[in-house]
Amino acid sequence: MPHKDPIRRRVYLTDYQRRWRIAHPEEARSRDKVYRDTHPEAVKARNAAHSAAHRAERKVYDAGRYAAQREQREEKKAARAASRALRLEEKRVSKAARQAVQKAEKEASRAARQAASKEKTRIYHAAWYAATREERMAHQAVYRANNRDKVKATITAWRKANPEAIRIQQQRRRARERSLPATLTRAEWEAIKAAYKGRCAYCGKKPKRLTQDHVIPISKGGGTTKENIVPACHPCNVQKFTNLPANPVQLVLV
Ligand SMILES: [Zn+2]
Repeated sequence: MPHKDPIRRRVYLTDYQRRWRIAHPEEARSRDKVYRDTHPEAVKARNAAHSAAHRAERKVYDAGRYAAQREQREEKKAARAASRALRLEEKRVSKAARQAVQKAEKEASRAARQAASKEKTRIYHAAWYAATREERMAHQAVYRANNRDKVKATITAWRKANPEAIRIQQQRRRARERSLPATLTRAEWEAIKAAYKGRCAYCGKKPKRLTQDHVIPISKGGGTTKENIVPACHPCNVQKFTNLPANPVQLVLV
């Protein structure tokens, strides 16, 4: 329904055209194409005018889009970096665990190899000593016979330098002569003295020199063994010898 009022008429026509285009899309498109082909300059001018009119608007829109995309890009980038760091950390942890296991296995196998080799060497040496004992003793006897003075001097010097060892030898001999056990070693004697902190087991004093006292005297069947020996100062040892029994303060026996 056409109107005389140009504004209303224009509104009516615009609405009519819009509805017509919706109702006839194909025809609308072909008419558009015909118009564009026949009026290229007008289309170009119109596009240019539109572009110029909305430049600032488009600029803002593009900048917004770009910023939004950049944010997304940065988020993606951060996520990738985080996941890479996580993977690397997992890799590092698993590698460290693997290496620790390998190291432990390697060390265990090396220890086992060393122990086996040591035992093999020990057996070999023991066998060698056993097999060559007579030969070596004969050789030594010959040497001693040919170097009597030299051997004697060596023995004297050693006895002088090792009074404790001599005492142990003497005590062991005393026990052996009575067919009693005589197994005390010098190391055991040193350990016993250390256990008593260098003190006499009877009076607790700390003399310059400790003697080996048999808790059960050799005369009563006590052997020279770590279980039957305590350190004693000379007065206590002598007193005990004549005046039984005194109770040793037993601390630790090795
Ligand atoms: Zn004493």
